[in-house]
Amino acid sequence: MSHAYHRQLVYTVKDKCRVCYTCVRECPVKAIKIIKSQAEVINERCIGCGNCVKVCSQGAKYSLRSVDEVNALLKSEKKIAACIAPSFPAEFTEIPDHRLLVGMIRELGFDYVVEVSFGADMVAKEYEKKIRNNSGQGQISSDCPAIVYFIRHYHPDLVGNLSPIASPMLAMTRIMKKKYGDDLQVVFIGPCFAKKAESEEVDEVLTFRELREMFQQNNISWENSKPTEFDPPASGKGAIFPVSRGLYFTANSTEAIPEEQVVVAEGRVNFKEAVREYEEGFIRNKHLMLLCCDGCIMGPGTSPGGKRFARSAAVGEYVTKKLASMDKKQWEEEVAEFSNLDYSQDFSPEDRRFEIPSEDKILEALHAMGKFKPEDHLNCGTCGYDTCVEHAIAIVKNLAETEMCLPYTIEKLHDSIKNLNVSNEKLAKARQALKQSEKLAHMGQLSAGIAHELNNPLGVITMYSNILIDESPVDDPVRDDLKLIAEQAERCKKIVSGLLNFARKNQVNLSETDVVKFLRHSIDSILKPDNIEVLLESRISNPQARLDIDQMMQVLTNLEKNAVEAMPKGGKLTLGVEGDEQELRFIVSDTGTGISKEHMEKIFTPFFTTKEMGKGTGLGLALIYGIVKMHKGKIHVDSNNDPGSGQTGTTFTITLPRV
Ligand code: ADP
Ligand code: MG
Repeated sequence: MSHAYHRQLVYTVKDKCRVCYTCVRECPVKAIKIIKSQAEVINERCIGCGNCVKVCSQGAKYSLRSVDEVNALLKSEKKIAACIAPSFPAEFTEIPDHRLLVGMIRELGFDYVVEVSFGADMVAKEYEKKIRNNSGQGQISSDCPAIVYFIRHYHPDLVGNLSPIASPMLAMTRIMKKKYGDDLQVVFIGPCFAKKAESEEVDEVLTFRELREMFQQNNISWENSKPTEFDPPASGKGAIFPVSRGLYFTANSTEAIPEEQVVVAEGRVNFKEAVREYEEGFIRNKHLMLLCCDGCIMGPGTSPGGKRFARSAAVGEYVTKKLASMDKKQWEEEVAEFSNLDYSQDFSPEDRRFEIPSEDKILEALHAMGKFKPEDHLNCGTCGYDTCVEHAIAIVKNLAETEMCLPYTIEKLHDSIKNLNVSNEKLAKARQALKQSEKLAHMGQLSAGIAHELNNPLGVITMYSNILIDESPVDDPVRDDLKLIAEQAERCKKIVSGLLNFARKNQVNLSETDVVKFLRHSIDSILKPDNIEVLLESRISNPQARLDIDQMMQVLTNLEKNAVEAMPKGGKLTLGVEGDEQELRFIVSDTGTGISKEHMEKIFTPFFTTKEMGKGTGLGLALIYGIVKMHKGKIHVDSNNDPGSGQTGTTFTITLPRV
């Protein structure tokens, strides 16, 4: 019995898969699972057609090998016959004469070398009878083992429609065992993987590629080969079997089978379609000749890169020569000799269809791929499945992954890039802010130091100049000078206290306040010209909040003063308060000149001012910064200083935590 019978035919090589999904696409029964971006052949679903091996450019799939077993057989005492599939002329195109190939095979140690095409001759006769009777039963030809598996596993209801006829390989095996006895070991050599698991009656099955390997191992080449003819029985027309429509040509030998009585479908797309149409009743009363490959000449056990039409021509040429030199009488005698053999073959159903998942589950898988509407179903086939729904079903069945959907993955990639850009921007901004706050912290320390040191001497100057003023006579001309000293010392003290505020280490003194009233009150305490319109906007549901009233009043009035000063020709000053349970936002917005980009970085720096001498101290925003930081709040500035844009202006937003 063949060691390969009922064994796994195709294997996957780990980590070689580069996820092109070509094997998924080429697998007629979707027996390939993609898991963690690696393709894996599922033995239970595989029909051994070998398409995936043929199409994998990475060599990530290989088929069951039989070379070692055949070598062992050849070393044994047993008689061994090599039965060569009729597609051999398509494979060994470099060998000028078939007798050289026969010689090479003998050199390997085979006792007999015969053509399977004699078996095809015999089988074809059975088909001819069957097709002429056209009983409805057995209308699907069973010569291709992958097709037989396909029907048994995936269309078990059609098993009764499989022709109960042995394949040419099996027929030839029976013929050889009849001729030489049951002890004869039969090695079939052909283009097919599925043959390896077709029948227990055949001892071993080699592919043409494996045969080449054995030639190489044994240093056998046609150049040094002794030409010999095939052993009998010699075949006739059966030699045409492996080309497209081969069964039709072979079977159609004595009485004509009308063309319209047969449907020929070859290749993974066509045969499936034909079976479907047959099962649905569209092509009843026809005989279906199905092959999984484009003729056996393109089988997966042939050398890669074969040219389909050149191969077909090579077989044709061989057959023409063969028929021309054929001994018709001897053939007829041999046919007669073996015509009483049993060429029947039974097939049993073995249902391996999986249950289609529920609609909900399929929809869920589709939604996960961003497919909600019919237009989202691109059915582009990139994933290897013909439709998005088939892909979704495979996902539910754990055979496929969502990422296999290219449009979905591209979209996800775009989103990631977008998100990455956004976080990059955020990061840049955060870094900028950090730099700024570090700088301000340094300045704060410095300012606090200076202010502290200056405070005492300034106090002394103020005190003594005031004492001197009090002590000097009213008409003393020195009095005015003393007043000036006292005034300026007072101004210095104000600046110093501003500095101290900026570098504040003071406590925050919270008390419950109505923030709307508070905001309204703040605007009353500053000077504002008539050409400035003030608007108050409240978007807060609970105006009760806890604030340091004195400090926040300073914040608001300073912002309002700045706004007014930015609108020398008048404008609109909008004061807003908003927030929720978590935070509170004060918004001071003007329609003034705006702040340029290069100034924006400096506005919180102590003493930075764009205002003329004596008007601005550059301490307002520095003070605000210090206070807001004390409150664990945030300051946000939005400004537009481009006069061309229609509306210039600045908005300061102060965000404070509410608890
Ligand atoms: P000062 O008002 O004494 O100049 P500030 O610290 O309050 O100092 O402000 C610093 C600088 O920031 C101002 O000189 C001005 O250039 C700019 N600035 C502040 N607020 C505004 C605003 N609302 N519109 C335009 N520029 C502003
Ligand atoms: Mg100011």
